[in-house]
Amino acid sequence: MAYVWDTQASRWQERDGRFQLIATRGATLAAAPPLARQPDLVRLLGGALPQCGCAAVYPEDFAFCPECGRALGARAQRRPMAAPLPLHVPAGLPVSSEALGALAHKGRPDLSLPAPPNAHSVLRAGHYGFAEERLLALAPARNVLQYWDPLAAVWQILSPRGGAAPLGFSAARHAWLGGGSAAGDAGLIPTDQGLLRLWIDPFDDAYHTETLCAARLAAAPGMLQRHLACLLATDSGLALWCDGAAEPLGRQLPASGWSQPYAYDGRLFWLHAAGQLVWQPQARAQWLPWPAGWQPRLEFGGPAQSRDGRLWLHGHEAGGYSFCELGSAAPERHPVDGARLGFAQFLFRRSHAVVGDPWESEQVVDPQAADSVLLPLLRAFHSDSGQPQGVVLRLHHPDARAEDLLHPAAPLRASVEWFGRSCAVLEQLPRLESPLELRPLLYAGGFWLFHPRWHQLRGWRLEESA
Ligand SMILES: [Zn+2]
Repeated sequence: MAYVWDTQASRWQERDGRFQLIATRGATLAAAPPLARQPDLVRLLGGALPQCGCAAVYPEDFAFCPECGRALGARAQRRPMAAPLPLHVPAGLPVSSEALGALAHKGRPDLSLPAPPNAHSVLRAGHYGFAEERLLALAPARNVLQYWDPLAAVWQILSPRGGAAPLGFSAARHAWLGGGSAAGDAGLIPTDQGLLRLWIDPFDDAYHTETLCAARLAAAPGMLQRHLACLLATDSGLALWCDGAAEPLGRQLPASGWSQPYAYDGRLFWLHAAGQLVWQPQARAQWLPWPAGWQPRLEFGGPAQSRDGRLWLHGHEAGGYSFCELGSAAPERHPVDGARLGFAQFLFRRSHAVVGDPWESEQVVDPQAADSVLLPLLRAFHSDSGQPQGVVLRLHHPDARAEDLLHPAAPLRASVEWFGRSCAVLEQLPRLESPLELRPLLYAGGFWLFHPRWHQLRGWRLEESA
């Protein structure tokens, strides 16, 4: 005998005590999900899994096993959201308000998961409107979207449905804006065909797209005071698109090679080797070329902050390294005696923290550590602490220039470390290639590192219950 079970969000068919998901939210599935995928889907719906072995899954509103009467396992629980970053921290930089302090007491990684099949991917974790957080990996060069099923421990390739637009993006640095709370909303992505909202449907292993702006994008989008803005590469030159209207900016401005936008002090900043584009809602975007002879060093990190709240970018000119004020038509400059790596008050001169203004002298705590360079990966933001803390990459090399260490000709000896009041070595990397490709990620109660050349993501558990 077959029975049909309806829950609030799904429909199941029962045959001889075996349950099979056949519809979610009123939509019948194109095909019944394979048995191996069903535990993941029950968790997405907020359900618990049977621990007794009588069946693989039950509909998500079951609390007890109908065979043996035992209670099912714990239901999916939404992790409390990290507090939003305060306005005085620039948005768009790797800064997190999650509690990362557990890393100060950690050693080698205690979590791992396989790299996605298309390793050159942008990874993003989110709830996407479901009961549990999931990990997506988008490979813009291959037009492939991958979904991590943590219960089956496999990457699923999601298939395009309903005329989904291609997901490729090659013009500039990729950045992914967060989605809303509707089920499947995976946020906004830049593509070579336009600005898209990406919708995932893990129940059908599929995705579709919604085009918000159909034009070739020159840079990743930014969000400011609920206004969505991006740069378009049109036949008549660069244009700024905001909330459905495009403003031409001129033929002479670059159509590619932009940074992702940084939001700060009511303005969005897109940075480029040739200059900066500064925009605020209800005002004309301003293109500000860099001062003559001054070249930015975008790969050193990102905008740094001074004590008075202004933003600065690191660069180089005939006299040596200097910081140049952002957002000003007549920028101030401050020379410094050597390269400083980092962003947003998480800056290092070789292995010593620079506290205060970005051009101040470094704080030498351990003179023995001088023969290495720290590259900040993720700043941990805590409002109660003026002490810089976060995860850094230590590049061991006695006397190379910062530029050479960031683009090394041969693999480097490096280590991943927690930097704070106390420090901890999290992982030794005897042969690291392309240090700038290392990416931090927060997912499923862990801090993770991903590098396109690694076969595994390495993770450190932040909470004991995770
Ligand atoms: Zn049972």
